[in-house]
Amino acid sequence: MATRFENKVRLLHLIRSRGQVSRPVLAEDLDINLPSISSLTKELLDEGLIRPQGFDKSEGGRRPELLGLNPEFATAMGLELTLAGVRGVLSDMGGRVLDREEGPRVLPQQPAEMLDALLAVAESLLARALPDRRPVGVGVGLAGLSDESGRVWRSFPHRKAWKDVKLAEELERRLGVPVRLDNDVHAATLAERSLGNARGLRDVLYLHIGHGIACGIVVDGRLYTGATRNAGEFGHTILEPQGPICYCGNYGCLESLASPAALVEQVQQGLRKGVQSSLAARQTERGHLDATAVLQAADDGDRLAENLVLKMAEYIGLGLANLVNFFNPQRVVFGGEMLVRGYRVLNDGIERTFRQRVLPVLQSQTGVVVSALGRDATALGGAMLVFEQLFDQPDRLFAIAHGHQPAAGARV
Ligand SMILES: [Zn+2]
Repeated sequence: MATRFENKVRLLHLIRSRGQVSRPVLAEDLDINLPSISSLTKELLDEGLIRPQGFDKSEGGRRPELLGLNPEFATAMGLELTLAGVRGVLSDMGGRVLDREEGPRVLPQQPAEMLDALLAVAESLLARALPDRRPVGVGVGLAGLSDESGRVWRSFPHRKAWKDVKLAEELERRLGVPVRLDNDVHAATLAERSLGNARGLRDVLYLHIGHGIACGIVVDGRLYTGATRNAGEFGHTILEPQGPICYCGNYGCLESLASPAALVEQVQQGLRKGVQSSLAARQTERGHLDATAVLQAADDGDRLAENLVLKMAEYIGLGLANLVNFFNPQRVVFGGEMLVRGYRVLNDGIERTFRQRVLPVLQSQTGVVVSALGRDATALGGAMLVFEQLFDQPDRLFAIAHGHQPAAGARV
């Protein structure tokens, strides 16, 4: 027989997963009598964890009151550390961004300088946070891999010096709050599941194209991270066994064929061969080319750019068809800077190839939408990592409710 505390935790989780739910529905779903439900929900209301959220439809009698989580119960800080730079947000449990801070757009070369840049963003947010809005934790979404504990930053593919950096420990020491690390795409997927276009869905794939290509996986309502937290390295699935070498050491990975960097390289090869393109003048003017310029040129009808972006979209669409056949998600959410900007040739090309190549039965059953969270997705996901963990630690959650925050730097 479950204890009262266990029932209270089950009740809280059910309210969290349902969004809004009435006491009679809670009683039925948990198989607990209505007076007990009323008593437990009164405690949660008094503790500030939940709050009334209007009324349900009437089924004859009085309309039952709906209950939902109180988004203002706690605040968390989310940080993004990727090739797109450093960025931070303070967010409530409902994903409302209370404050935002941007750091350098170009990442420093050395781990110590990178840590300083990250701390500067975090400290500004902390300094401006109102006393009742102090974050209960910090979640960092970062490019590269962290270890199973989520405390040590294992590696960052584009910065050889950044190996085995004890990032969580160092941040905790300096900030005095618990810190959790995860991969940037896992964080963004969590944000989509908690707040964005994957909200309320059980099985979702999040296709992320920023500097690289990766995929976030939601299975049965939970973020799937794999045995050693490295799930979703879609960019390193192999599409051409004899293809170009990838920075991971393998050949013909999706990233070596279709990443934004590969696209720029392919354009440059074309230009060197003398293929006519508006991008030749742009390259001469600015001294370099970036993927967004190529994607825009494709949308503007530049033949070289359009052909290469279509090829990129085809590879990604093929890979996506393989993933959808494998996972059978309800929806695919397009995220990351390249997809969120909505370039027509790229986004439409991926979806077209995907629909042509996926199993016919899944063609109409799988929705495709673009993320609505935009540039905040990864930092917001960092904040959601904190809440996710908090709800897995009911003792800590109720300690916060009763005003006994864990000691600064406590391990999460
Ligand atoms: Zn690779």
